[in-house]
Amino acid sequence: MKSVLVLGGGFAGIEAAIYLKKANYNVTLVSDRDYLFIYPTSIWIPTGNAKFSDICIDLNELKNVHNFNLIVDGVQTIDAKNNSYTLKSGKTLEGFSHVVLAMGASKMKHKGIENTLSICGTPEQSLQIRDKLDELIKKGSAKICFGFGGNPKDTSAVRGGPGFELLFNVHNMLKKKGIRNNFELTFFAPMPEPGKRLGPKALKMMDSFFKELNIKQHYGKKIKEFKGDSIIFEDDSFLESDFTMFIAAGDGHDVVKDSDLPTNEAGFISIDDNCRVIFEDSNMPKNIYAIGDIAALQGADWRAKQGHIAEVMARNAAFNIIQTDKGLSDFKGYQEHLNILCVMDSGNGASFIYRDSTKAMMIPLPIVGHWLKRAWGKYYKLSKLNKTPRIPGM
Ligand SMILES: Cc1cc2nc3c(=O)[nH]c(=O)nc-3n(C[C@H](O)[C@H](O)[C@H](O)COP(=O)(O)OP(=O)(O)OC[C@H]3O[C@@H](n4cnc5c(N)ncnc54)[C@H](O)[C@@H]3O)c2cc1C
Repeated sequence: MKSVLVLGGGFAGIEAAIYLKKANYNVTLVSDRDYLFIYPTSIWIPTGNAKFSDICIDLNELKNVHNFNLIVDGVQTIDAKNNSYTLKSGKTLEGFSHVVLAMGASKMKHKGIENTLSICGTPEQSLQIRDKLDELIKKGSAKICFGFGGNPKDTSAVRGGPGFELLFNVHNMLKKKGIRNNFELTFFAPMPEPGKRLGPKALKMMDSFFKELNIKQHYGKKIKEFKGDSIIFEDDSFLESDFTMFIAAGDGHDVVKDSDLPTNEAGFISIDDNCRVIFEDSNMPKNIYAIGDIAALQGADWRAKQGHIAEVMARNAAFNIIQTDKGLSDFKGYQEHLNILCVMDSGNGASFIYRDSTKAMMIPLPIVGHWLKRAWGKYYKLSKLNKTPRIPGM
């Protein structure tokens, strides 16, 4: 039986492991957490609309349902040339027929970042944001700033959507409590038009949402430093902030940057359309795949690292591994599937956002949009655990 090593237990790694197990591979998955974190629905943890456990899937449960081998440990070093992978515990994994890299991204490191919390950081930060908001609500009033940053070396790694979602959810939570007027909410970003890649219509709509909800906007100035009580910009102007929620853009995974894997300028792994890692040296292995946020996506300027793209890449990589072992050369590519697809939640509704190479749209879905996203979260969990049939492509 051929063996596959999958590094990373997020959207991409789990999907690849499930598909490879279905094809009877001996799959070993390594994750530094013992749970899969469903990031898209974690936006409700800070406002108390979801419990931490609602957002997690126990990897041991997934392992038992799908029958893969699980090692809970951190990958410390990658030696692609020798097909050798060392873990934090000191263990070395070697000799697998194929390797799938799916450890996600690291984050850009800004000065003073420790004075902020991110909804896209470690899962535990969602709880810390909740505690901070509770503290400020008890205090009775505050200035809260929400923002995201860029990565000039790879714009696909910028993640702003969850920042908008959390901000709208916090606005609605404060409104429900009848204390919204005591809080100054500001959205900030270094780019002049944050959210531009969602399309011109979305940009206009976001602007009108902010005005309607009395949320201040501060755009177009590079961030110099985060302090405990403020955000300092390139021209030394500043925003006062009792609490800053800041999503640093993704950056190449630190373990990848220290390895012999080929990367783009930002440190994301260079792959071809079939998710196979492209080494310039023809003596390097041809059995390594990279999927999800860890990989350098190629394509239109607006392309973005998203969960559904990570899953398409996972299914394609699994398919391409199977084809390779059958001696076939009919492979599947991810680029034709690139689009932006999200249901941007506000706590009392949502907006459906879609962009591909021919169209860009944003459709408000009051009330029902929120429940659609909640239903998706439940579906994701149950379908991965084989408790409900999978809808093709989801
Ligand atoms: C708050 C939030 C909301 C989002 N909303 C949406 C949305 O609405 N729609 C959408 O399509 N996408 C959304 N995304 C993006 C989506 O979640 C990501 O694109 C997706 O999680 C990428 O999957 P991945 O498996 O590549 O990486 P990850 O989900 O980051 O998983 C990587 C895994 O690897 C593990 N790992 C990391 N380093 C190591 C190591 N050294 N050793 C072992 N294991 C390691 C991690 O523990 C993790 O389990 C959102 C993201 C966030 C953060």
